[in-house]
Amino acid sequence: MCCHSEADEENQAVERKDSLGANAFSEWHKGLRHSEWHGIILLYSKIFFWEFFMCGIVGYIGSKNVAEVLINGLRRLEYRGYDSVGIATLIGDELIIQKQKGKVIDLIKRLDYEKFNGCTVGIGHTRWATHGEPNDINAHPHCDCKGDIALVHNGIIENYGAIKKVLIEHGHTIQSETDTEVLVHLIEYYHQT
Ligand code: GLU
Repeated sequence: MCCHSEADEENQAVERKDSLGANAFSEWHKGLRHSEWHGIILLYSKIFFWEFFMCGIVGYIGSKNVAEVLINGLRRLEYRGYDSVGIATLIGDELIIQKQKGKVIDLIKRLDYEKFNGCTVGIGHTRWATHGEPNDINAHPHCDCKGDIALVHNGIIENYGAIKKVLIEHGHTIQSETDTEVLVHLIEYYHQT
């Protein structure tokens, strides 16, 4: 006597299909060449890098206490991972930069919020070092020679070495080991000429 119903047969068919799918999935990698593996690993590491290790940038212009806004913004970006932190604000005509290796909380301990009352503009950065070790000097923002321009940056300037060489020939003093700093001097250079 047959004890299989139509529903049982259907279920068995689905199970066979699933196991075929699972096999295909668990076997897919076996045919990959070395270079294809390399590509996949590179892709995953890029996604991982950009998702979790990316600098944070905050900019503000307005009537609230600038330091407070910048610090709150940077705290919200901490999840990205970073090694240094800094802010730049304008008090009157004077550019004030506070930056250091470490966490936002370390900067907060040194900030005098009262000092920033009346400031209307500022930028903040959490750095994930690519060029130059994490230290106070390499932390962003970076400044031009005259201290008129402050800059924060995310990413890599591939040809920074060539730009740096030309800038030094034109008398610029580069303080940090970062690729970023050449950009602010380059702006200064074009601003002057
Ligand atoms: N390349 C720059 C540096 O190393 C910026 C890194 C970042 O995106 O935080 O300072």
